[in-house]
Amino acid sequence: MTTSQSEKMFALARRVIPGGVNSPVRACRSVGCDPLFIKSAQGATVVDVDGNQYIDFVGSWGPMIAGHAHPEIIETIKKTAEYGTSFGAPTPTEITLADMVVEAVPSVEKVRFVNSGTEATMTAIRLARGYTGKNIVVKFDGCYHGHADSFLVKAGSGLATLGIPGSPGVPEDIVKNTLSIAYNDSEVLEKTLRDESLDIACVILEPVAGNMGCIVPDRDYLKRLRSLTEELGIVLIFDEVITGFRLAYGGAQEFFGIIPDLTTLGKIIGGGLPVGAYGGKRAIMDQIAPDGPVYQAGTLSGNPLAMAAGIATLKILQQPRFYQNLNDKAGECAERLRKVGERAAIDVQLNSIGSLLTAFFTDQRVVDFDSAMTADTQRYGHHYRNMLSQGIYLAPSQFEVAFISAAHTSEELKKLEKMTEWSFKKIAEK
Ligand SMILES: *Cc1c(COP(=O)(O)O)cnc(C)c1O
Repeated sequence: MTTSQSEKMFALARRVIPGGVNSPVRACRSVGCDPLFIKSAQGATVVDVDGNQYIDFVGSWGPMIAGHAHPEIIETIKKTAEYGTSFGAPTPTEITLADMVVEAVPSVEKVRFVNSGTEATMTAIRLARGYTGKNIVVKFDGCYHGHADSFLVKAGSGLATLGIPGSPGVPEDIVKNTLSIAYNDSEVLEKTLRDESLDIACVILEPVAGNMGCIVPDRDYLKRLRSLTEELGIVLIFDEVITGFRLAYGGAQEFFGIIPDLTTLGKIIGGGLPVGAYGGKRAIMDQIAPDGPVYQAGTLSGNPLAMAAGIATLKILQQPRFYQNLNDKAGECAERLRKVGERAAIDVQLNSIGSLLTAFFTDQRVVDFDSAMTADTQRYGHHYRNMLSQGIYLAPSQFEVAFISAAHTSEELKKLEKMTEWSFKKIAEK
């Protein structure tokens, strides 16, 4: 396998782009590789600029639930583009996608489209603060909500990988209004939320964590969170940028039957184009400008191409048994990988739910950020390189999930299992 074209491009990119990448995890530093430059993708296969093919478990970090270059989505984008790509004025497609989101996501009565998950979460907390007149945002260690200043406190994703506790450039005055507490711990939660010296506007969380690897909270924990926030008048925000339209058509809130006040979406609803959204209860959403005083705007928001790609994607997801088939297939794969882990001579914990899974290289049960951090990232790097050499493209960090899509065939999932077993053996021999 030669990667000389990728190496060449990486050198060219580094001249003019910081780190050669437009998002830090793509640089692959924590797995000791240089990035592959991708030429094309189809179904569950990605092809790099050297012509190497890989079975893809990154799925553009979540959006590609229907597989890459799905013919219906591509056709819709092409047709829509012929009519012009942006007008800075309302278009009919926005109504269609908004209606679909309102119908799908239990908590959403009104929705506003933006251009990324970061924009969605950033606005959701502004809205919660505007609505309650309070300042403190409670988040959870290891949850990632994009890169707005307020969230760069013990965040997951690239920050977990790079070991950056926060980030220079984020004023202390801003993060002093963010409180980050342990995920999945009812006692800490109750103590924090009941603390009357705190002026809490909202609690935001990933209802299943994906950005410290896959961590599924106890259902009772989510229930407790809902009843406490309701009792105390705190706005509950589910950041469903990953889980929305992923665990079920109505996201984690449908999956667990727990309804937040506000929901943020992204990734899947853009069908591979840049989109985010936030929505929720009418009374809260009516605080947004121009109906209310809380400001949020966007030149390209509700972009017709992105709306069309979102609509085409959601139509695919509406097919009968889509989620049952996907979750059954992924669940079976996770079960087999769990057995591979149990047979292995190294310590591995397999966490999974729906079509999300993470193998943590640790002997501890992974239930929160601290236990996730016990994972051996050197081993993950070794595993990553092993798998890549066998044509399997995993996330270049221990603290991410593998995404299974509708396009993965049982042969491809069997290859994942077989190569995982081989890789674990190789790691144990080292
Ligand atoms: C990816 C992600 C975001 C940020 O979305 P971007 O489109 O990358 O800005 C926010 N929250 C969660 C849970 C995410 O996984």
